[in-house]
Amino acid sequence: MLYESTRGGLKSKLSAEAIKMGIAPDGGLFVPSTPVKLNPEEIYNLVQMSYQERAVFILKHFLDDYSIDEITQCVNSAYTKEKFGTDEIAPVIKLNDNVHVLELWHGPTCAFKDMALQILPHFMVKAVEKTGETDETVILVATSGDTGKAALEGFKDVKGTRVIVFFPNDGVSDVQKMQMVTQEGNNTYSIGVYGNFDDAQNGVKAIFTDDEMNDRMGKGGYKFSSANSINWGRLVPQIVYYFSAYADLLKRNEIEAGEKVNFVVPTGNFGNILAAYYAMEMGLPVNKLVCASNENNVLTDFINTGVYDKRREFKKTSSPSMDILISSNLERLLYEITEHSSWLINEWMKLLKDDGIYTVDSDTKKKISKYFWGGFSSEADTLKTIECIYNEYNYVVDTHTAVGIDVYDKYVISTGDMTKTVIVSTASPFKFNDSVVKAIFGEESIAGKDEFELLRILSEKCGLAIPVGLKDLDKREIKHKNVCPKEDMKKEVEKILEI
Ligand SMILES: *Cc1c(COP(=O)(O)O)cnc(C)c1O
Repeated sequence: MLYESTRGGLKSKLSAEAIKMGIAPDGGLFVPSTPVKLNPEEIYNLVQMSYQERAVFILKHFLDDYSIDEITQCVNSAYTKEKFGTDEIAPVIKLNDNVHVLELWHGPTCAFKDMALQILPHFMVKAVEKTGETDETVILVATSGDTGKAALEGFKDVKGTRVIVFFPNDGVSDVQKMQMVTQEGNNTYSIGVYGNFDDAQNGVKAIFTDDEMNDRMGKGGYKFSSANSINWGRLVPQIVYYFSAYADLLKRNEIEAGEKVNFVVPTGNFGNILAAYYAMEMGLPVNKLVCASNENNVLTDFINTGVYDKRREFKKTSSPSMDILISSNLERLLYEITEHSSWLINEWMKLLKDDGIYTVDSDTKKKISKYFWGGFSSEADTLKTIECIYNEYNYVVDTHTAVGIDVYDKYVISTGDMTKTVIVSTASPFKFNDSVVKAIFGEESIAGKDEFELLRILSEKCGLAIPVGLKDLDKREIKHKNVCPKEDMKKEVEKILEI
């Protein structure tokens, strides 16, 4: 399997090279040059397999420059019961006869980013070995909360790598901040930035593209790479759990072999739902992919009109991991839908950069609406959904998952579609506990309480154990105390690497 850039500048790269590079030098994203197709029997055979065996089976088609042994080692190091607290890794919970929930947040940081960031470091270490690279890999991350912690945890003590995370000092939740500043490991660094997420992201981008800096990095024996979902190595592990969920439904006789299902995906950067699209293209029986947004509803408008317009107010919502106006992975979808037209991609991405808006042709729009349905949830509707689901099913969902459930309700009302549906649940309710407690027990229940107290309240009132990764977080030792002005991010990196 060879990989190529969506912008047409690079072709015929092995997966190890694509994973090591992260983003293509022409600014495009790596995608497989040829589709992977599975037959119905291969899909049916997944039923008897463990999550790890399913992962090896799916991944080997995309990473065929890795040996089966290498892939198996990566999978078995990443997806352990010790790290995920369950043999199932990504359990499917039945809500009612029609609706199931795929829980992707049992990993160490309590959000779905672990599904990819627990395995990406292993792919990367092997990629470095396979390509004869001798430099140490430095992973630079700007985060609005979830990715940073998941990257720190994933790369912790991984040989030949260092991970440096910049987060907006006053722009993440207390839980998220404590998760990052108490990070253990001898190769991990987390640094607060006086500024917002955009400042942190711009600072990281500036360092990535600083020639003089890269030159000194090379001399010091270092090379930068990325752990964001623009890296193919982060996308490909996400394909696995769509097949796994389908196999679980088959195993429990909830569906028949070949029966189509819907997936509802709470979406920000379009990485998770794109993995579902690849699964469908590989032969997984899918009826509709429901793209669920919060009030930052650029994608809803795009799917409905074919116009992508980011020129709108950025809203801070209770589902912050989906507060995003530029969904990077949409570029990969457009490349696939236009049958690999890098010419069109370059045109649209240039318009997006220069004018903040582009419009796809009617044929492309039609194809997108054939596979996708887009909707969004308002802040009030999201909280209402958490309350309703708790009252009706005694099941607690986080704000991002609630966006998905609310949009699914809107989808059913609008289409009447009664196809069996899997809602993708992306975070533990404990991670966004103030919104969850407020939604279920009312505004007064959170008054004057900090997030750490609310963890205990949520646990007691709902009879749920606090996840290991969040337990006693406020009592852990703070190991990372650096905060810097946004102008000094480069200096911080230089200090750490001593270059
Ligand atoms: C990152 C994230 C999302 C959005 O996923 P994308 O792949 O960026 O679309 C949704 N929910 C949670 C909790 C996340 O951390």
